[in-house]
Amino acid sequence: MPRALITGITGQDGLYLSELLLAKGYDVYGLIRGQNNPKLDLVRETVPGVKLLTGDLTDMSSLIRALNVARPDEVYNLGAISFVAYSWENAMLTTDVTGKGVLNILEAVRLYSGDDPTKVRYYQASSSEMFGKVQEVPQRESTLLWPRSPYGVAKVFGHYMTINYRESYGMHASSGILFNHESPRRGFEFVTRKVSQAVARISLGMQDGITMGNLDAKRDWGFAGDYVEAMWLMLQQDTPDDYVISTGVTHSIRDLLEVAFERVGITDWERLITQDPRFMRPAEVELLIGDSAKAKSVLGWEPKVGFTELVQMMVDNDLELQREQKDK
Ligand code: GDP
Repeated sequence: MPRALITGITGQDGLYLSELLLAKGYDVYGLIRGQNNPKLDLVRETVPGVKLLTGDLTDMSSLIRALNVARPDEVYNLGAISFVAYSWENAMLTTDVTGKGVLNILEAVRLYSGDDPTKVRYYQASSSEMFGKVQEVPQRESTLLWPRSPYGVAKVFGHYMTINYRESYGMHASSGILFNHESPRRGFEFVTRKVSQAVARISLGMQDGITMGNLDAKRDWGFAGDYVEAMWLMLQQDTPDDYVISTGVTHSIRDLLEVAFERVGITDWERLITQDPRFMRPAEVELLIGDSAKAKSVLGWEPKVGFTELVQMMVDNDLELQREQKDK
């Protein structure tokens, strides 16, 4: 039975990846941070087959301990402080966890692996936010990185450190440059979930409107369930490498609002939107669109769920959740 250790088990991707690996017959371990983590019950209910270990990406000794218990064949480093807007207010914490945390776990894996550098296959969750002020459209593996937030800068550090450990020590370390990926499990701070929840509440008469930030930014949004497949595929290759994972289609925040409101039969949605500088960012990533041709040719990976289907899935899920809330 193959064994895997996942950091960031409480997040959207941690849950989808756990389900995927459990279905493939893996023995799955998840690293969980802190005492009384509020998401502990969610993980226990959603993926009861996962064995939880306490640890923190900023505490290398806890990572070594977790590796010694889990004895993994594969490590997926999904743990991060991942909300871009928050990263300006907490730049040092973001750097410690999202950036230096990668070095901690790479070094822990290296020490754990002894004289066999390929004993553990390592996946690093890199991000399209690394492209920031985009230097090429669409963005691919070779595009110059130009991050536009403390989060993006920390992810660039982790990305290059992963490549450095691969090249310096011969580790089987791969980096997935994942474009935005969403689902009904997305956190409410992200724009897709904020919109799907608000639209559901507006259609049920539970809320009057939505306060938004920049409506012109464009993102390449895919479905998280498709994207965790790509992570797994990267670690099944003989040779470690870096891959862009994206849909190749970009949509604005306005498009998102249009499709979400259309799902509940509202067409004149603009009157329901107010804009507030609170939701604007000191620097913006204006246009993300990825070229995942390499993932398609080498991994045989392609996204299955398109933008409209994704947004509808999220709105439908929030309608159900909000109806339950209303009936309480
Ligand atoms: P990100 O790509 O990881 O930053 O994902 P987000 O979902 O947080 O933001 C995507 C884009 O939506 C960014 O360009 C934001 O500036 C834009 N946006 C516009 N209004 C909002 C809002 O109210 N909340 C969030 N989170 N983003 C917003």
